[in-house]
Amino acid sequence: MEEVKQNMLFGKYEVGRVLGKGTFAKVFYAKEITTGEGVAIKVIEKEKVRKEGMMEQIKREISVMSLVKHPNIVNLKEVMATKTKILFVMEYARGGELFDKLAKGKFKEENARKYFQQLISAVDYCHSRGVSHRDLKPENLLLDENENLKVSDFGLSALPEQERQDGLLHTQCGTPAYVAPEVVRKKGYNGFKADTWSCGVILYALLAGFLPFQHENLISMYNKVFKEEYQFPPWFSSDAKRLISKILVANPERRINIPSIMNSPWFRKGLNFNSTSNDDLDLELDIESKVNLIDSSSPEFFNAFEFISTMSSGFDLSGLFEEKKKRGSVFTSKCSILEIVTKIETAAKSLRFKVKKMKEFKLRLQGNVEGRKGKLAVTAEIYEVAPELAVVEFSKCSGDTLEYVKLFEDEVRPALKDIVWSWQGE
Ligand code: AMP
Repeated sequence: MEEVKQNMLFGKYEVGRVLGKGTFAKVFYAKEITTGEGVAIKVIEKEKVRKEGMMEQIKREISVMSLVKHPNIVNLKEVMATKTKILFVMEYARGGELFDKLAKGKFKEENARKYFQQLISAVDYCHSRGVSHRDLKPENLLLDENENLKVSDFGLSALPEQERQDGLLHTQCGTPAYVAPEVVRKKGYNGFKADTWSCGVILYALLAGFLPFQHENLISMYNKVFKEEYQFPPWFSSDAKRLISKILVANPERRINIPSIMNSPWFRKGLNFNSTSNDDLDLELDIESKVNLIDSSSPEFFNAFEFISTMSSGFDLSGLFEEKKKRGSVFTSKCSILEIVTKIETAAKSLRFKVKKMKEFKLRLQGNVEGRKGKLAVTAEIYEVAPELAVVEFSKCSGDTLEYVKLFEDEVRPALKDIVWSWQGE
């Protein structure tokens, strides 16, 4: 690609060696010029993706990665696009794939436990956001420079809207050795329970140095999976055996769930709750403040102009930038600023949100209901871009993202419909 050839990307990143290859993408190491920070840039060929009809999958990967922010999940920093390519700028996992380490031999029980605790913490977090990964395996588990695990590759992940009316997923995904029996059976499956099975196979592999179900013939391997036919090597501790035998249960209804895994004696041993408990994390806030910082350093008019040009151009990428859609929901209005402010205040009050004026055209709306991550707080900023045209941007400043999205979709958007000319990306 033109930018990569010259080693500089958008004047912001210096691109280096290839780190790996995925189905539609190459991943490069790059250095952010201003901070010197290492990042991984996944370069996806739009044409290839389009030809294979995989655009939905890429969009899903972007939405999912934007939704999940956790210390054990590779962080998506930004998404950029050229005419021919989509670029994911991600946190760089210096330690490479856990698979490469495992290929050198099994782990000591303490090390396997640490990786498994981090994996389960990430999976529990994803599930709490309604996301199932569907392709958990050591190749998709990366390590950072401190040997902390980072789940990557959400290319096959599923959001709840993919469920059919029976509440089950129907797409066959994953890698044979790690796939749950109900996924193979193609009768619909629960993505969370299927992820749990894969975690069980991973745990077995970490402790054993080989897979629980192996056969050169795929059908014979699946037969072993269906019959839960595997043996424990003699070095497995009894607590580890007990836990694995509760996970590798072919019937998903009888399989242990993630909260019970987290309560099991083997899992809890030596666990530092402060470093892994999801309740202690509010990385999202951190991300948001970064986004806000970027916003406040650029002139307001430029922001607004950018929104308008995105909305009116035929080359609309906004659908791809789920992060922007989820975190800051933007609409244009032909009403006066006063009308817009009044309408937002009325809508906020009917939702029992307190309204505070931060700047002349910026409101802070504060909820009073304790949610999963505390009370929701939202800002609404109004930019006048032309005498009869305003752009209004909502952003979440605190609280749970899913609760925010739900409130926004179910309450805020309907309440504002009289003043909205068009929503960004619609
Ligand atoms: P993927 O397309 O996500 O499967 O990535 C292909 C390969 O690139 C992976 O198997 C890793 O070896 C490497 N890779 C992907 N993301 C990162 C990252 N954030 N940091 C370091 N290496 C990565």
